Amino acid sequence: MGTKQIIASRPARRGNGRDGRYDGTAPFPRPEGAPGSRTGASPVQTTLTGAIVVAPLAGLIAGVWLAWGKAITLPDVLLALVLYAVTGLGVTVGFHRLLTHRSFTARRWLQVTLAVAGSMSFQGSVIGWVATHRRHHAFTDRPGDPHSPYRYGTSLRGQLRGVAHAHLGWMFGNDPTSISRYAPDLRADRAITNVGRAFPALCALSLTLPFAVGWALSGTWHGGVTAFLWAGLIRIALLQHITWSVNSLCHVIGARPHSTRRHDRSTDLWPLALPSLGESWHNGHHSDPTCARHGRRPGQLDLSADLIRVFERLGWATDVHWPDTSRRVRNIRTDRTGHGAEQDRPEPHSAPCPAPAATAAVRPAG
Ligand SMILES: [Zn+2]
Ligand SMILES: [Zn+2]
Repeated sequence: MGTKQIIASRPARRGNGRDGRYDGTAPFPRPEGAPGSRTGASPVQTTLTGAIVVAPLAGLIAGVWLAWGKAITLPDVLLALVLYAVTGLGVTVGFHRLLTHRSFTARRWLQVTLAVAGSMSFQGSVIGWVATHRRHHAFTDRPGDPHSPYRYGTSLRGQLRGVAHAHLGWMFGNDPTSISRYAPDLRADRAITNVGRAFPALCALSLTLPFAVGWALSGTWHGGVTAFLWAGLIRIALLQHITWSVNSLCHVIGARPHSTRRHDRSTDLWPLALPSLGESWHNGHHSDPTCARHGRRPGQLDLSADLIRVFERLGWATDVHWPDTSRRVRNIRTDRTGHGAEQDRPEPHSAPCPAPAATAAVRPAG
């Protein structure tokens, strides 16, 4: 893919820099005309997004209120942890490292299993998730990024507004990402398309499964309801906010030890390493998006990479794109300003990787 194609894929800009280019501090110009104009989502879309976002939060409030007396048991907690890990790894290993970036090749049944597990996390259907995330990498922290915390500029007010937008607000806007442009490979994949179609059913399963297990273990309706609250709604709410924190906090606070493209302000945020299953080593990820390990420095906990290693040893994953020493040395820098080592590189997620030929089709501007 040539530079010409990359430039052609960018949305229309209005001069927010002296030469009309994005200068890294100004609010993003609004794209002119459809389909990128932000005129607000349709009522149906807003209602559905609101339900997906608000229902788990309501469960959290209800759970805390009930727990004030007695409504939490050890099975509730264990079941919540298991489902958090399964659905979370479905997103981090399946949606993100496998399907978005092709960091490794997986057996067919494993691809589908991971896509199903990720779909149970209430983060949207698999193909839309992948397309949006590829677009995020194509335009990181520049106009065109669907969820940059720098959308409203770098003033204090703009920054606060931007963090809210990157965390949650962007889902309520009308800024659709083209599937045919960003995820043609997945749209042509019948099994993954079927998983995408099953998203509402998988959301229902994600809630009814804990109820059924809680009811079976306790033999009471009360046991089913508390499992539904803790291992259903509250588990979903926690994973949602951890994932969304990678979009918001991991572009604002934390360390930037790796070199990235110009304007990319992704950070490594160690306190979120465990709950994000390794995704909060976000600066490491943005510096080399096709790499299967995001925590690339010694001692950086990355449970998602550890699981990919297990898959590799079992023979279920091949062509794993592990970091090589030369690349690691090249990408680590000494300053933490986030600017000194920035480079104008092509969109990094589209870099060649040892994945199958289908990878070529995922290029965003191809
Ligand atoms: Zn990012
Ligand atoms: Zn990514």
